[in-house]
Amino acid sequence: MRFASLGSGSRGNATVVQAGSTTLLIDCGFGVAETRRRLGRLGMDLSELTAILLTHEHADHVAGVGAVARAGRVPVWATPGTLAALAPQVGVLPEVHYINCHAPWQIDGLAITPFPVPHDGRESCQYLLSDGSARFAAVTDLGHTTAHMRTVLAGCDGLLFECNHDRDLLLGGHYPAALKRRVDGDFGHLSNAAAAQFIASLDCGRLKHFAAAHLSEQNNRPELARAAMADALGCTADWIAVADQDAGLGWCDLA
Ligand SMILES: [Zn+2]
Ligand SMILES: [Zn+2]
Repeated sequence: MRFASLGSGSRGNATVVQAGSTTLLIDCGFGVAETRRRLGRLGMDLSELTAILLTHEHADHVAGVGAVARAGRVPVWATPGTLAALAPQVGVLPEVHYINCHAPWQIDGLAITPFPVPHDGRESCQYLLSDGSARFAAVTDLGHTTAHMRTVLAGCDGLLFECNHDRDLLLGGHYPAALKRRVDGDFGHLSNAAAAQFIASLDCGRLKHFAAAHLSEQNNRPELARAAMADALGCTADWIAVADQDAGLGWCDLA
């Protein structure tokens, strides 16, 4: 199993996870041409996508899902709350599957364990994927972490994890007061320090790749996220990958 990012941040998110001939896209925040271009960087084509999993209805996660799903005839899986909130934005999806965010299921040989996260989407969830030997989870867009997450994510081989902002940069920066409150709130986004505190308390004994993700372009710096996560994991800063807004992140092998 391996994972990569097509891009991560408030201008668009999509994570690719591949195991054998099964390729899943978690979120679809880029349009058809941009998704094709970014998949091309990974040596992939849109026609190779097996399914799209959506985490929630915010535009940076779903802006391209209608057009991409129609262009590639790709089935879409999401919670009823996300799908209800999505409908007007994306048009008709060729194939839709409603999931229970507490119930694991399978696509081909990949086991998918959804878990709810506290965010201001209608029914936000994130996903842990396993091919039977390796386990990977992408975890972004959450205002705080939960004990349930700590149980689900224990022993992961790969993690792509939100390091949205440095709290001092956010609170001292130029965002309007209401937006600062939203980002900093319990249903907003995870700070570097909050992410580090969670990761330091998580069983990371099998971790092969860690990617910091959904970094704010105004309220964070890659070196701040790297330093916080390196401290939490007891590794050097250069071991921490960053899923960039424009460049994404190349393949990370978990096998
Ligand atoms: Zn987002
Ligand atoms: Zn969001």
